[in-house]
Amino acid sequence: MGKKKKGGSSSSGKSKKSSGGSGIKRKRESWKYYKIDGDQLVRIKQECPECGAGYFMAEHQNRLTCGNCYTTQWLSEAEA
Ligand SMILES: [Zn+2]
Repeated sequence: MGKKKKGGSSSSGKSKKSSGGSGIKRKRESWKYYKIDGDQLVRIKQECPECGAGYFMAEHQNRLTCGNCYTTQWLSEAEA
């Protein structure tokens, strides 16, 4: 009778690696970089130690990253 041959060779070994996109999540407590100005709480942005003034570090969950030279400063999360 009919011989059924299933030629299935559609399993390409291609592993798609989706690097975690930089989701725009902005739900985190502000970091401790702030000062009291008068009776106002002013947040201070961390400047890049490499690039100097004017270059601020992007705030991430547990680190700061300079968008210019990509210096990363890990924040110590051992603080509670
Ligand atoms: Zn920098």
